[in-house]
Amino acid sequence: MSELTLTSLDVAKIREDFPLLTTPFHGKPMHYLDSAVSGQMPGVVIERMAHYQRFEHTNVHRGVSTLSQEATDRFEEAREKVRAFIKAPSVKQIVWTRGTTEAINLVAQSWGRTNLKDGDEILLSAMEHHANIVPWQMLATEKGASIRVIPMDDRGVLDLDALDALLTPRVKVLGITHVSNVLGTVNPLKEIIAKAHAKGVVVVVDGAQAVPHLAVDVVDLDADFYVFSGHKLSGPTGIGVLYGKKELLEAMPPWQGGGNMILSVSWEKTTYMGVPGKFEAGTPPIAEAIGLGAAIDYLNAIGLDRIAAVEHALLDYATAELSNIEGLRIIGTAPGKASVLSFVLEGIHPHDVGSILDHEGVVVRAGHHCAQPVMTRFNIPATTRASFAYFNDKADVDALVAGIQQVKEIFS
Ligand code: PMP
Repeated sequence: MSELTLTSLDVAKIREDFPLLTTPFHGKPMHYLDSAVSGQMPGVVIERMAHYQRFEHTNVHRGVSTLSQEATDRFEEAREKVRAFIKAPSVKQIVWTRGTTEAINLVAQSWGRTNLKDGDEILLSAMEHHANIVPWQMLATEKGASIRVIPMDDRGVLDLDALDALLTPRVKVLGITHVSNVLGTVNPLKEIIAKAHAKGVVVVVDGAQAVPHLAVDVVDLDADFYVFSGHKLSGPTGIGVLYGKKELLEAMPPWQGGGNMILSVSWEKTTYMGVPGKFEAGTPPIAEAIGLGAAIDYLNAIGLDRIAAVEHALLDYATAELSNIEGLRIIGTAPGKASVLSFVLEGIHPHDVGSILDHEGVVVRAGHHCAQPVMTRFNIPATTRASFAYFNDKADVDALVAGIQQVKEIFS
């Protein structure tokens, strides 16, 4: 590993910002290698939300009270931070959701219901999370549409020639992950989106695993929809984002109805707000939106480029170390992958690996990672997955390697 790259971030100092990382776990130092499941929040994010709850809380977009106006200002400032973070042209294109899952359901139910009909096809990649499969299956069942899948090779690289063949006139929408949560593959989105657009296909990008690691520019990508969750981005749970192209969002009907999303209501007729208000029925997660804004400030202060460089150095180091372990097979070896390392150990179930590592203070995820079709593709029931963030260091990887050796000894 390049020491130069690693020292470009003062990881030890960064760790001090995270209460959970500096608290012993099972009486041992905490080695949190599970950021793909949920990122940890730095104290500034937690404190920002607590400050809001203590001193600023009321509802937003309601009433003339100073308190309500100030809460609304903080809430809308957070939307602006998200806009700038993904380089969207306008805050009107940033819709708050509960997370990635809700954002995809919103697109499927609003845009999809309006635009799909019997016989149409929905194209998905072979490495999608269930969140980018199930909403489309529900829509397909309702509409009489069908799902087609872009295959991938044994490294976890999508077959773009197959994509060309699959892009028939029947395809109306392509759902694709930016970064795979199991394999770490970073898909060549610009190329894929350009191919889809050449055939008039709308592209929905699942950015849940991309935003914590890469600088995302939705305009440069030319994504039609781009979605992500706050909790993968050092922010809280319960908040997520749907970005959409203006003309698409404006043409879409509201998804849920209620307060906050209307212009006027009578017994005869309701008129709706414009975007993004018409998609935000009811009281939103206000503290969570403000917390996500604080998380974006925190990440920006470190710099996503520096974060990516450090994570890549750590991934390279971990990959080299794990490759030396006999009987260990890494699942997902695409070139230029992001900092997700899935593996299987011959003859040992990933749940056993995960449990033993847990007792050593090494937190990883074991299971199918909400991507059962990926498990089927690689003919495995589950994997153990270590995922790295900007607060991880060599000691975390060393603890992982020592833990795996211990697992092997127990099962030998
Ligand atoms: N897509 C991907 C690629 C993910 O990793 C996840 C979270 N595991 C999701 C979607 C779902 O995110 P959420 O549960 O926050 O809606």
